Amino acid sequence: LASEESRASATPMMEQYIEIKANNPGSLLFYRMGDFYELFFEDAVDASRALGITLTKRGQHLGREIPMCGVPVHAADDYLQKLISLGFRVAVCEQVEDPAEAKKRGSKSVVKRDVVRLVTPGTITEEKLLSPFESNYLMALARIKGAAEPLLALAWIDISTGVFRLAETDQSRLLADILRIDPRELILPDTMFHDAELKPVFDVLGKVAVPQPSVLFDSASAEGRITRYFGVGTLDGFGNFSRAELAAAAAAVAYVEKTQIAERPPLGRPERESGASTLFIDPATRGNLELTKTLSGEREGTLLKAIDRTVTGGGARLLAERLMSPLTDPDRINRRLDSISFLLEEPTLCSELRSGLKHVPDMPRALSRLVLDRGGPRDLGSILQGLEAARGVAAFLDKAMLPEELGQALDDLKALPLHLESMLGNMLARELPLLKRDGGFLADGAHSDLDEVRALRDQSRRVIAALQLQYAEETGIKSLKIKHNNVLGYFIEVTAGNSGTMTDTPEGKARFIHRQTMASAMRFTTTELADLESRIANAADKALTIELEAFDSMVAAVTSEAETIKAGARALAVIDVAAALAMLADEWSYRRPTVDDSRMFAIEGGRHPVVEQALRRQSVGPFIANDCDLSPHNGGEFGALWLLTGPNMGGKSTFLRQNALIAILAQMGSFVPAVSAHIGIVDRLFSRVGASDDLARGRSTFMVEMVETAAILNQASDRSLVILDEIGRGTATFDGLSIAWAAVEHLHEANRCRGLFATHFHELTVLSEKLNRLSNATMRVKEWDGEVIFLHEVGPGAADRSYGIQVARLAGLPDSVVARARDVLTKLEDSDRKNPASQLIDDLPLFQVAVRREEAKRAGPSKVEDALRAINPDDMTPREALDALYALKKQL
Ligand code: ADP
Repeated sequence: LASEESRASATPMMEQYIEIKANNPGSLLFYRMGDFYELFFEDAVDASRALGITLTKRGQHLGREIPMCGVPVHAADDYLQKLISLGFRVAVCEQVEDPAEAKKRGSKSVVKRDVVRLVTPGTITEEKLLSPFESNYLMALARIKGAAEPLLALAWIDISTGVFRLAETDQSRLLADILRIDPRELILPDTMFHDAELKPVFDVLGKVAVPQPSVLFDSASAEGRITRYFGVGTLDGFGNFSRAELAAAAAAVAYVEKTQIAERPPLGRPERESGASTLFIDPATRGNLELTKTLSGEREGTLLKAIDRTVTGGGARLLAERLMSPLTDPDRINRRLDSISFLLEEPTLCSELRSGLKHVPDMPRALSRLVLDRGGPRDLGSILQGLEAARGVAAFLDKAMLPEELGQALDDLKALPLHLESMLGNMLARELPLLKRDGGFLADGAHSDLDEVRALRDQSRRVIAALQLQYAEETGIKSLKIKHNNVLGYFIEVTAGNSGTMTDTPEGKARFIHRQTMASAMRFTTTELADLESRIANAADKALTIELEAFDSMVAAVTSEAETIKAGARALAVIDVAAALAMLADEWSYRRPTVDDSRMFAIEGGRHPVVEQALRRQSVGPFIANDCDLSPHNGGEFGALWLLTGPNMGGKSTFLRQNALIAILAQMGSFVPAVSAHIGIVDRLFSRVGASDDLARGRSTFMVEMVETAAILNQASDRSLVILDEIGRGTATFDGLSIAWAAVEHLHEANRCRGLFATHFHELTVLSEKLNRLSNATMRVKEWDGEVIFLHEVGPGAADRSYGIQVARLAGLPDSVVARARDVLTKLEDSDRKNPASQLIDDLPLFQVAVRREEAKRAGPSKVEDALRAINPDDMTPREALDALYALKKQL
């Protein structure tokens, strides 16, 4: 076709191309031509560079050569995957009529084409394009300008599994909420995209944030759009949603419709998620703690990687989701913990379940593809296999005394449609082709008409074999063959030298009809052969028709059970996660944490889950377990702070992080790496650990540190857990010390949170004399023969020195530099450092005055301020001014 069109004038085709391209801005256009998707102009340049394929030219446009490149249709998925992962979006444009139709309209007429699908990172369903371990969320952000303040809401959809959720948010936690869900694509109104206040958020998200026309986010038509999608009259049955939530949900739905063109993926009903039900982890903390991605973006070295023992894709996704959004409701957490406790007591059951689960394919994703009419026979196979595996798992689990979560899972498994399993089992062949149009996916015996046609086809093939023998005998040409190709169908082939023999005799002449002359062969047919040929072709057509009909009815049967299948798949994921966490607990001796509404934080023998495993892998000695107790003292109301000192490399960061990770693990409903743990629910987790430059955004290390510290001091509540590592390091010593000092005071007096504060400023340790909930702790070291040995043990008290010079020596600084540094240090310690901290400690009231002043400001202007405002010095005599001063002083 390509060559036909290029022979004709290229212009009408280019016109069509340009029109379609103009209707799909922001996407690469895959323009179907024969067996290729072709790209032109800028698209071709971008794609050839991204995919490493050759850039060619095709004709001219406006006097300039048109760049072109193409990818074969059969391999398109691979190229799509690469482009999507690079952040491109692709509009797939197909021929939507038979080329013969176009010819009828005239020789220059172009085949009609249309975009049948937009492939974007957030709306893909193909197995090849998706990671089995990660959800693939499309998220929409909407804003309603309300009376008081603008309201923000998020809606997120995974069309590969049908998950659909909503939540309200606000500007201060917007980024944290987005990162918690970690969408592949975030759509938002273009007006908002250019909003200066929100710009920092979108800067962080980079290519993930995609502006869309504001009409998509119109809240007035939102409800109608959602009810239409779900085919319901009203949303009342779905729950109460705010206008902002509706706008976000409708935008997400509209975008799904826009990208999927004609199809509607099966979405679950929108579920509201309240911000208060999940542990708030601010963006910096999420990054620093390396929960699911390391700072350099990898999976290796993360908490998720260390704890993931799941055996199914659905289980892996659920585990990641739980880790990203730990809970704040002790009851829900304890229900999850109950499942793990139960499975730990039933080790045989646990391993049976895990071996049963290994056979579970990705049912929700197969289901989505089937509903979207993008599925193939193997997706039906996945559903069948999933149903079989689910029955097996349910049989293992069918015991009297299941804890609640597993009991619910079992109910969902039992609700799975058995009839579907037997139907698919009877219908599907053992080996399934990828595409339905290849046929051959129905089992023998599944359909009597099909069996008949298949018998006919097989028999005809035998007849042809017999015919070849017969012709060879009759003509005496031993090398005579009956062959088949797509152009001629069946034909008789003899070598050129033998061809004369065929038509020597009158009978031969009448019988063998010449079809084609090749360089070295001659091809013939006979009426018998033509007959057989059409019988076989008819049979194949008929067989395929029967198979396709059966395919459609199987898909219909499956999709009518979509809800129960999805619930069953979810149940399998829940069981997988519980069994995996039990397995992990067993393997690494994790213990069940006590989680309740108190302000306790008592960890006995805690370990860092990732470092512990790394140390074992590298066989470099055991991980030293450490206690941490931030619980309220002496019946007090608020939790405690620890000020942790100790040398570099002593293990401070590790200790800080391990306690944050233990809190996260406990609240996601996992056992924890500790001998025992009692954790009163943490509402927000903040950390400021390690210095990361953000030079791309023009911020120095120190600036980043201060911005993050500000967020913590402004937002931490008395239920929060705060981890601060070396605040104030990035500036001059006294600046840094002062900031660290004031920050500790603020955490203690104003935030009253539980927290760990690691520092090099030993001066700070005197604060524990004044701040009753602050204790000193230190990383123990041993000095031996002038060397330091890190014990990695946390104990009460303060470090007396930093051992910085010893560490520098270990790192290989030249001996002369180390010796000189020692001399300098001795001098400094003698002179300047005559314990400035002892003076500072007397100044503590200053901070309280500062707090009071801030509070006063919030309470409104004082009398003195009012009086001062009323005075106009220019109108006063010196005497009046003096009187006014006396009057003011009296009012204090
Ligand atoms: P700091 O923050 O005090 O400079 P780190 O926390 O970075 O020290 O720890 C330095 C190294 O010591 C880590 O890389 C780790 O391998 C080891 N380490 C830390 N804590 C422990 C521990 N509790 N048990 C064993 N090794 C530890």
